[in-house]
Amino acid sequence: MRLEYTEKQKKFRAEIRDWLAANVPRKPLKSFDTKEGFEEHRAWEGKLNEGRWSMVTWPKELGGRGCDLIEWLIFEEEYWSAGAPLRVNQNGIFLLGPTLMEHGSEEQKQKFLPRMASGADIWAQGWSEPGAGSDMAAIRTKAVRDGDHYVISGQKTWSTRAVWADWLFGLFRTDPNSQRHHGLSFVLLPLKSKGITIRPIKQLNGLTGFAEIFFDDVRVPVENRIGEEGAGWNIAMATAGFERGLMLRSPARFQKTARDLIALYQRHRDAADRDPMIKDNVMKSWMGAESYALSTYRTASRLARGGQIGAEASTNKIFWSELDVLMHETAMKILGPRAELMPDAPDGGDIDHWLDGYLFSLAGPIYAGTNEIQKNIIAERVLGLPRA
Ligand SMILES: Cc1cc2nc3c(=O)[nH]c(=O)nc-3n(C[C@H](O)[C@H](O)[C@H](O)COP(=O)(O)OP(=O)(O)OC[C@H]3O[C@@H](n4cnc5c(N)ncnc54)[C@H](O)[C@@H]3O)c2cc1C
Repeated sequence: MRLEYTEKQKKFRAEIRDWLAANVPRKPLKSFDTKEGFEEHRAWEGKLNEGRWSMVTWPKELGGRGCDLIEWLIFEEEYWSAGAPLRVNQNGIFLLGPTLMEHGSEEQKQKFLPRMASGADIWAQGWSEPGAGSDMAAIRTKAVRDGDHYVISGQKTWSTRAVWADWLFGLFRTDPNSQRHHGLSFVLLPLKSKGITIRPIKQLNGLTGFAEIFFDDVRVPVENRIGEEGAGWNIAMATAGFERGLMLRSPARFQKTARDLIALYQRHRDAADRDPMIKDNVMKSWMGAESYALSTYRTASRLARGGQIGAEASTNKIFWSELDVLMHETAMKILGPRAELMPDAPDGGDIDHWLDGYLFSLAGPIYAGTNEIQKNIIAERVLGLPRA
């Protein structure tokens, strides 16, 4: 076993580092949970695509570089270290992209992937419904076949950035007589379709990061379905595996936060040393981020040898979401009462974006399937315990 990077990997790292140094916007972009910030981030996606850095693991003919997962991890490390903008198209490139590669037809890949890579189409995810969050098999929004179209009626909720996104990938009940996991299909549709009403929902930080989507007899061509009719559940579970197990939250994100936390601790040692738990938690954060990185390298190597992501992806999701809360809580404690100021407050000093990060970290144990649900999955499918 050689635990070091190859010459090719080192060259790749240097190439992305140089490109980012020349291209990352000097001034941070506005939040992508605002209309203006959303468009600024879309333009950044276009720039990344011009450099063919949008999604390095995709095949060259679809705008990628045909990289393996280790190279993707290297890309992510450089991306986060460079302080590059958050990816407004993460639902597309990290979730739907891999799903289309595996389950989409050739026409669907050609139609959707290049526009996804360039940011021309930004995607939202339409799975949750008011009565179907953790219990996603309770989905009721119907897609009734009418010739070569589906007619969709019902409601989705908590759809991230659906207020400004262009397209939605969703799970819909195509067999009206079906129960639970059966009779669901994975369908793609433009959010500007006739019959769609989008109602923004404000998040804890006051920005409209979410939306409810109402479907009133929305007509969608059958050719927008991915995979067989009724096979939506299994396809969605493959997407969820990618989301929890690998792509949505790369370790580099948490390694960067851990480094920032250490720097914050070093600047505020006096305050921090008043509470001995702070030092412990700073160390725990660094160790957690490094452990997560090593574990992800192991997963990537396993997948490269033909392995699959399975139910153990749930352990990952619990780990990174709890780590993120710990890191942000520790930063809030170091900053003390100043932590609650806005970054531009006169007495803000170096409070930076810790408050915003803290509020978002609280969502980590909820999105991509709550941590309680992940624990159920681990109990039943990894440990083989009886069903609750
Ligand atoms: C930041 C963020 C972004 C999101 N983005 C999207 C998106 O883009 N698209 C989308 O479709 N959805 C999105 N969601 C929604 C998310 O998937 C749901 O919030 C989540 O699945 C939980 O569903 P719920 O909110 O209906 O809670 P509920 O399912 O009502 O759960 C409430 C509580 O009960 C617990 N619980 C429920 N069932 C069980 C059980 N069987 N055993 C133990 N505990 C249980 C849960 O863990 C939770 O603590 C997002 C959520 C957040 C926070």
